[in-house]
Amino acid sequence: MTEWYADVIVDISHEKLDRPFQYHIPESMVDMVWEGVCVQIPFGAGNKLIKGYVINVTQTLQFDRDKIKDIYSVEQGDVTIEDELIRLAGWMKRYYGATMIQALKTVIPVKQKCKPVEKKLVTLLLSKEAAEEKYAFFLKKHQAARARVLEALLEEPEIPYSFLTEKKHVSSVTLKALAEQGILEIQAQTVYRNPLQGMEAGGKLPPLSGEQRHIVERIRQDREQGLAKKYLIHGITGSGKTRVYLELAKEAVEAGGQVIVLIPEIALTYQTVMRFYKLFGDRVSVINSTLSPGEKYDQFERAKKGELDVVIGPRSALFTPFPGLSLIIIDEEHETSYKSETMPRYHARETAAKIGQMRNASVVLGSATPSVDAYYGVQNGEYELFTLTRRLTGGTLPKVHIADLRKELKEGNRTAFSRALQERMADRLAKGEQTILFLNRRGYAGFISCRSCGYVVKCPHCDVSLTEHRDGSMQCHYCGYTIPIMKACPECGSPYIMGFKAGTQQIETAVHKMFPAARVLRMDADTTKTKGSYEKILSAFADGEADILVGTQMIVKGHDFPNVTLVGVLAADLSINGHDFTAGERTFQLLTQAAGRAGRGDKPGEVVIQTYQPDHYSVVHAANQDYQGFYEEEICYREMMDYPPVAHMLTVLLLTEEENRGMELANGMAARVKDGLVIGPARAVVGKINDVYRTVLYVKNGNYEALIQAKESMDAYFATHANKKELVQYDFSS
Ligand code: ADP
Ligand code: ZN
Ligand code: ZN
Repeated sequence: MTEWYADVIVDISHEKLDRPFQYHIPESMVDMVWEGVCVQIPFGAGNKLIKGYVINVTQTLQFDRDKIKDIYSVEQGDVTIEDELIRLAGWMKRYYGATMIQALKTVIPVKQKCKPVEKKLVTLLLSKEAAEEKYAFFLKKHQAARARVLEALLEEPEIPYSFLTEKKHVSSVTLKALAEQGILEIQAQTVYRNPLQGMEAGGKLPPLSGEQRHIVERIRQDREQGLAKKYLIHGITGSGKTRVYLELAKEAVEAGGQVIVLIPEIALTYQTVMRFYKLFGDRVSVINSTLSPGEKYDQFERAKKGELDVVIGPRSALFTPFPGLSLIIIDEEHETSYKSETMPRYHARETAAKIGQMRNASVVLGSATPSVDAYYGVQNGEYELFTLTRRLTGGTLPKVHIADLRKELKEGNRTAFSRALQERMADRLAKGEQTILFLNRRGYAGFISCRSCGYVVKCPHCDVSLTEHRDGSMQCHYCGYTIPIMKACPECGSPYIMGFKAGTQQIETAVHKMFPAARVLRMDADTTKTKGSYEKILSAFADGEADILVGTQMIVKGHDFPNVTLVGVLAADLSINGHDFTAGERTFQLLTQAAGRAGRGDKPGEVVIQTYQPDHYSVVHAANQDYQGFYEEEICYREMMDYPPVAHMLTVLLLTEEENRGMELANGMAARVKDGLVIGPARAVVGKINDVYRTVLYVKNGNYEALIQAKESMDAYFATHANKKELVQYDFSS
């Protein structure tokens, strides 16, 4: 007779999660015990009966058989919030191909042993020279502690307070004295606190428009019948979506329920959060990435105890353990940040749908450019669609021009700016209006290639092209590998080895050359490295301290600039030529968002999209602000190619130290797939990171369940054929 054992965890909100205890499953319970089930077990020397959760069922014994106790009973009766979360983890494990531990850790916040200390930052206020002088002075005066502080700050101008007190043994008195001398500044690290602490809830909202009322009433009708359904609100920025969310949240709370509001981190701006605070006062909490795990845990505890009605946050706020959750709102549902990049690679949209189903909560998505996935859900009847057609903030939709870069080149224009863009920039400068130039790329110039033989300079560790920087170096943006710029091609000796595509720095320089009087700000990964610099640049631009803002995609989100009347997209091709099947969708979204930056105020806006592919459907439909037209072409392409959301796709990524091992394993795994279309194996787009080879394999199938089966067969092969250092990751797209 086969014996079955269960790995049981006893305290799910604890680090002990890593150490399950093994129990024997008595024969009478074999059919009742599986992953996620809650059981009573005798625990410790006194065999006290406690509650535990089964995370794995196995025939493999991990201890002596006679040391293993029997499960006492399977817990029945009331389902607690923990039970729900465990069930959710069980679903995520299977649906996203993760381990139960990975799924549990995603779903359940872990209690921290020590209380987080107040986080403070110390910032150097002196110039490098002045600081070096002070440092020498303190050394000479034998003020060792002060010298240590300056030494540390010279290395890193911004360091945690606790690092100085604990690691450098500097007293708080010393730091205070240095602050008083104006050498440094001590600041509390910005943690999102309720700025209206103690303020009365219930601020006034403007009355709903007809379109808004229709949405609220439809959803109310469904709730009154006990139905928890899924809805998509399609409406451009400023069309009143957030006003609808506020109304829906208010009604849900008045009916005794609680609400989770997901917002992409980057859009989690003061203004949005403030609108919720004004309505719900202390009953709302914001969870974002500046919270430590301990602080997040505290917020989740407050939610569990009924101290909160609304939680706002990015992806992970989805797991807020509200006892009476009745509504989940996902704003800007098309954002890629809603998909997790670690196992389990869950998508917030799908997971919200699952939670909604488990807990009878409605799910409301909103977007100006709905994801193809969500819109496909509308076509299937999975989501009900609402459309908000008017912009309530005033301002008109911008006029969009497409500039054909091939034509520019043919007619002798070798600059990065089409004549259409140049003329309009000059016009805005003359009128004192602002311009945004948008480039989907970072660094001084793009990849370096030889114009004579085509050789491209690549990182030897990561297999990506190096990027030229103005300081005369070339760098790898994955591992940081840096070499000096080459004067001649290592392949053919030609001197015509140079940068190819423009970067933000180069654009900035070109703008300076063309319009020497223009004030230019640049925002990209390089200029936003230090804390707060992102906000600083945006507010400087909003305050009119510059005429032109040059930046990467980070400038197209959030923030209103009423004086911006021109947006230039410098090279739409950079995202059109992306390497996966969502490139068209991303391009459409980016172009639409970029266009939406122009004409927010009372002056009309214009947009110039520069491209080598002016006939590409994502460019054409974005220029016409035609979502429907875009969707129809895009879904045709997905249908033709069997890409998600039409079919489902599983990406298998193998990480191996030897190049051929990745192929070997992938081929072995592919042979185990009985059902579905296998593509590859191939080297990943980035074939190597930090000397680890990356091999990919794709499996497509119209049936998700079949894909899960395929994953399980492949995983079984991997488990028996891979060595300890080899890794596999699964990623489902549906
Ligand atoms: P979205 O979330 O779609 O960008 P918002 O809800 O933020 O739109 O609305 C845009 C602007 O219009 C906000 O300033 C908001 O206060 C205002 N607004 C929204 N709904 C109404 C309404 N029914 N009456 C008056 N102003 C409104
Ligand atoms: Zn060459
Ligand atoms: Zn590298």
